Amino acid sequence: MANHGRVAFETLGCKLNFSESSALARNLSEAGYARVAMEDRPDVVVVNTCSVTDHADAKCRNIVRRAKAANPESFVAVIGCYAQLKPREIAEIEGVDMVLGAQEKFNLAEHLERGRDRRNAGSVDAVVERGEIRDVHVFHPAVSSGDRTRSFLKVQDGCDYFCAFCTIPLARGRSRSADIATTLVEARKAAEAGAREIVLTGVNIGDFGKAQGQSLLELCRALEADQALSSVERYRISSIEPNLLDGPLIDFVADSAKFQPHFHIPLQSGSDAVLSAMRRRYRTDLYRDRLAHIVDRMPDAGIGIDVIVGFPGETEERFAETRDFLLDMPASYLHVFTYSERPKTTALRMDEVVPVSERKARNKQLQQVSLKKQWAHAQKFHGQTRPVLLEADVDEAGRRSGYTPEYVRVAVEDGASQEPGHVVEVVLGEMREGKLQGRTVTV
Ligand code: SF4
Repeated sequence: MANHGRVAFETLGCKLNFSESSALARNLSEAGYARVAMEDRPDVVVVNTCSVTDHADAKCRNIVRRAKAANPESFVAVIGCYAQLKPREIAEIEGVDMVLGAQEKFNLAEHLERGRDRRNAGSVDAVVERGEIRDVHVFHPAVSSGDRTRSFLKVQDGCDYFCAFCTIPLARGRSRSADIATTLVEARKAAEAGAREIVLTGVNIGDFGKAQGQSLLELCRALEADQALSSVERYRISSIEPNLLDGPLIDFVADSAKFQPHFHIPLQSGSDAVLSAMRRRYRTDLYRDRLAHIVDRMPDAGIGIDVIVGFPGETEERFAETRDFLLDMPASYLHVFTYSERPKTTALRMDEVVPVSERKARNKQLQQVSLKKQWAHAQKFHGQTRPVLLEADVDEAGRRSGYTPEYVRVAVEDGASQEPGHVVEVVLGEMREGKLQGRTVTV
């Protein structure tokens, strides 16, 4: 096998990006690259970008600068959502040698070889290989491995929803997935690599199997029943649209031995008028019903909610509706996003723009609501014994951390004496530094 040198990956954004970076890194290792950290003077740096907010763009520029500082001779390739949306803008960033779109990134090894040969032949311009998103139809499976604790399993890509504020369909294309059999093969790779927990990830994962006449519920059942996956102790469903989280799926998780009682469900607004303007596919009554069903079956479940503040037309009254709705919801944490204008979205053409300072003030308010929810959720477990999947890192106080099934983050005081990647029984104590403190149960 040819030796193509050392490659470093820098990944921004969502779990899906991390699963793809991990799969692409494995492909490059099979093609003769050695994976190294950015500090180890890599010959090639691959930056896997996100484009959900305008900060994503700035972060990408910053990484390119760091890559060139680490090794001025390094070949820098930028891939991912930002690359699909703004390839020319990226190609003009000093230090960028190649930009690959949503489809082209999956032939990374070939493109790198051609691009490096071209540069060695004296060419200085960045290579841009990016097809039209409407031509992207192929689903490329991916799973992250190498982290003995948790693995991100890509089960779906793209989206057909076109919400008014969102560029993801323009960056990742229409909704698509593989079938259950192919997805099980990917999951087994994570199990063989030692993963104890698998997180199902995608863009709109509730759409899994649509083209194959299969469903996410059937996939979950197949994962839990697969003997080759018996070493996997936990599964989590990452973010899922409320209208695609139906009763049978909630009941399956409630009765499951391995699927964890933890849901992350985007709400975006607690005002039906704003949800309508956002072109969301549900209203607050459906959302309330879904959460009531979850709490009825799993009273202590972890429930995370995404919300956007400052969307055009979000008057003071409508923001108050959102805040009051969230206060009323049995959530355990919020992810609060400040609306930001994104190119080619329908929201750009909307009136009643909310001043940026007001958007930021509303974000602050909901951050306070989130802190209270987190605290209240964690306090429910005070004095209880819960299983925690220990992660590898040990903090300065010699503690290992991990999550309970209900997605409470716990710092385990005597965790360093335990093997990472194992589920241990922990007695839960006080909340300190945003984490619940705990000690392992001595048998
Ligand atoms: S469901 Fe809406 S917000 Fe989510 S990825 Fe699709 S278009 Fe974007």
